[in-house]
Amino acid sequence: MTSNSNQGSPGKIALISLGCSKALVDSERILTQLRSEGYALDAPVADANLVLINTCGFIKEAIEESLDSIEDALSENGKVIVTGCLGTDSKRLLDKFPEIMAITGPHDVNAVMSAVHAALPPAHDPHFDLLPPQGIKLTPSHYAYLKISEGCNHRCSFCIIPSIRGDLISRPITQVLSEAENLVKAGVKELLVISQDTSAYGVDIKYRPDIWKSKAVKSNMVDLVKHLGEMGIWVRLHYVYPYPHVDKIIPLMAEGKVLPYLDIPFQHANPRILKLMKRPANSENVLQRIKQWREICPELKIRSTFIAGFPGETDQEFEDLLAFLEEAQLDRVGCFTYSDVAGAKANELPNPVPMEVRLERQQILMETQAEISALKLDNMIDTKQTVLVDEVQGDQAIGRSYGESPEVDGVIVVENATGVNVGDFIEVEIESNDEHDMYAKLISCP
Ligand code: SF4
Repeated sequence: MTSNSNQGSPGKIALISLGCSKALVDSERILTQLRSEGYALDAPVADANLVLINTCGFIKEAIEESLDSIEDALSENGKVIVTGCLGTDSKRLLDKFPEIMAITGPHDVNAVMSAVHAALPPAHDPHFDLLPPQGIKLTPSHYAYLKISEGCNHRCSFCIIPSIRGDLISRPITQVLSEAENLVKAGVKELLVISQDTSAYGVDIKYRPDIWKSKAVKSNMVDLVKHLGEMGIWVRLHYVYPYPHVDKIIPLMAEGKVLPYLDIPFQHANPRILKLMKRPANSENVLQRIKQWREICPELKIRSTFIAGFPGETDQEFEDLLAFLEEAQLDRVGCFTYSDVAGAKANELPNPVPMEVRLERQQILMETQAEISALKLDNMIDTKQTVLVDEVQGDQAIGRSYGESPEVDGVIVVENATGVNVGDFIEVEIESNDEHDMYAKLISCP
């Protein structure tokens, strides 16, 4: 950690502000945030713990001035973070100055602050700072949700989320990775990546290039998963749509970098209903893709959700959905009956399915899946699994293996688990199961 001579201050930062008035306002916002976090801002470049350069890329002279400033700061100080217009071409900058610690684009105070925190962590004064670095969490301390974006660019006809939360806004990758790192430091052992559409991560910010720990990274799903996978914890992916680049995630699962678990909300399988639903990914190749994924990563578990009784769904179209389930052999499935949501386009579709038929179809679907799930769990008997313990009651421990996500999937119950604590990873052998849960004996605990 950088030395700090200022009592109570996390360190001294020198900011060099170049360029137009918009850049100046960005610098002011950065300085305001730094001051509010207690950083000292009056040090000369040579004396600072960190130098921030807000660059300009408007004309040739401005670019040269920015490049000269970076070069000078690197030779005078060595610890340099670059932001502003030149930051949009981070590759060019890094090619010229590989020692730069982090690069962010313009108008992104959050990304600058994430980079500053990574290089020069803020001080935590117990009298004034009541927030732990990982923030306040409502989940148990051993797992946490990691939200990578807000909103959604799709317009599924049954959903009003885009009208409530707006279009997709992805968080810059450095911000997400910093938060993940803080959670890991705070003792989190499992991160559950969530969003409305995890596969679309970064599309709104054009997969912006950034620097994380002196390495070039892009705000896209593959880079995010790769870096999370290096943090030595369980990483579980939710709300993944089967876009082509998801294929690149499967080898990471096979290598053990991220949990071989995908939550893909298919919602239906019949092409006409999917079109009426305006779903983002078409299902034509889904079965083939699942087959290929399982060839690469045989342990892969897939969870999904479906809607029964969507307006206009015929008996045959519902049969198509059941046939898909039989063929896909998904591991975990949830099913909702279709219901009108105020403001959703699907409400206007003709031929609504009577409520009793929706309920009947939901029941048939769940019974069909229950048989599939039970058989899949039968195949787990006698296997050894690593389990993360969520709950201990007397000498009974309740936890999950890589195949079960908290709250939505089944659990593994372990009897005679004396000495086991919540948040422990334990080794078990599966002995029996019912439709959703498994029962195991303890082999070893920490
Ligand atoms: S259901 Fe469709 S529109 Fe709604 S959040 Fe999911 S992908 Fe976006």
